[in-house]
Amino acid sequence: MGNNGKPTVGIFGFTGCAGCQLNILNLEDHLLDIISLVDITSWVMAKAENDDGPWDVAFVEGSIAKSTDIERLKKIREKSGVLVAIGACATHGGLPALRNLADTDEWKKEVYGDDYERIDAIDIKPVSHYVKVDYSLPGCPMDKAEFVEAVKALLIGKTPYIPQYSVCGECKAKENVCLLKEGKFCMGPVVQAGCDALCPTYGAACEGCRGPAPEANWAAEVEILKKIGATSEDVKRKFLKYCPSVADMEEFKELEF
Ligand code: SF4
Ligand code: SF4
Ligand code: SF4
Repeated sequence: MGNNGKPTVGIFGFTGCAGCQLNILNLEDHLLDIISLVDITSWVMAKAENDDGPWDVAFVEGSIAKSTDIERLKKIREKSGVLVAIGACATHGGLPALRNLADTDEWKKEVYGDDYERIDAIDIKPVSHYVKVDYSLPGCPMDKAEFVEAVKALLIGKTPYIPQYSVCGECKAKENVCLLKEGKFCMGPVVQAGCDALCPTYGAACEGCRGPAPEANWAAEVEILKKIGATSEDVKRKFLKYCPSVADMEEFKELEF
C-alpha cells in the first residue's frame, strides 16, 4: 500500500509495440476510476515521475528479447506482490518472437555489418520463462474489458477470470457461420477464448493471438486445415505465429504435419 492507503501499481513495457499499454491509456470510461482506487507509482509511458517500487501489482507488457531485460524483469518481480503479464508478447512471446524462426545472426550481419556481435538479441521468450507470473491477460492487444475486470478482481482479492475454452465456443454462441466452411484457415478450435470471437465475427480467420486453449485438439486442427488446402508450412506458421512456445509442447512435437 502507498502512503495514501491505496494499492501501488507499476506498469512496465519490454519488447512489443506498446499497444497494450496504449489500450490502458485508452480506457476513457474507466481510467479515472482506476486512478482513484490505485496509486500508479511507475508508468514511464504515462508519467514523468516514477519510483522504484515496491508495488502491490505489476503489469508487464512485452517479450524478453535482450539479456539486459532479464535482470530488469527479475527486479520487477522481486519488488511486486502480484505480477500480471499483459498481451501476447508477455504471455506467449507474441509477434516479436517470429524472430526466433529466422537466422538472427544473419539478419544482424545484414543490418549492422561487422559490428553485429555488439547487438544484444537473445531468443525471444515470454515473461513466464524467467519469472513467476501470477496471472496472464493474453491477446494482441490485451483486451481492455478483460484488463478492467482483472483490476476489479485484484482489488477485492479475487482471481481474474480468463475463459478456459476455445474461441469456437464464443463464435458458436454468436451464431457465426464457420469460416472453415469457406476455406479460411481459422485457428479458433485451438485458441483460448476471451475476445468474443472478434475476428471470425468480422469474417476474418482467428490468427491465434490469445494462445493455446486448454486441452486443444491440435491433431484435429492440422487435419482440418490441410483438408481445406493449407500446406504443412502454413499450418506450422499459424501455430507458431503468436506463440513460439507451442513448439515446446509435447502435443506439438507429436504432430504429423
Ligand atoms: S501483445 Fe500486441 S499490442 Fe501488445 S505489445 Fe505485443 S504486439 Fe503490441
Ligand atoms: S469460424 Fe473459426 S472460431 Fe468460428 S466456429 Fe469456425 S473455426 Fe471456430
Ligand atoms: S479471434 Fe483469434 S486472433 Fe482474433 S482476437 Fe480472438 S484470439 Fe485473437
